[in-house]
Amino acid sequence: MYDLHAGDPDDDGLTHEFKALVNPEIIDAAGSIISEKEACLSVVDFSADVKRYETVVVKALDIDGNPLEFKAEGIFSVIMQHEIDHLDGILFINRISVLKRTLYKKKLAKELKTN
Ligand SMILES: [Zn+2]
Repeated sequence: MYDLHAGDPDDDGLTHEFKALVNPEIIDAAGSIISEKEACLSVVDFSADVKRYETVVVKALDIDGNPLEFKAEGIFSVIMQHEIDHLDGILFINRISVLKRTLYKKKLAKELKTN
């Protein structure tokens, strides 16, 4: 489940596009882009630039169980990769350097102590 407009600072309450995909899978990918300041509800107060594929082809079932296949580009492609990572138990912090991840853990530990 994703919302293309979630967290968009320009979003002034326009229609949100909620879509549900069942068992989505990336079956093809090409190019690369940097997803700037990628963030996640599962990772507290942290964002990082993550290298992602520019385009991906996603295979899934819709909510009624009908097979579908589509190509996603740009930010839509990033959202697909981010969300499918979640299904595989991967957070975007697993895709950044060990150094950045260590810094994040330290920061988090500090916050947990002060709260
Ligand atoms: Zn996420």
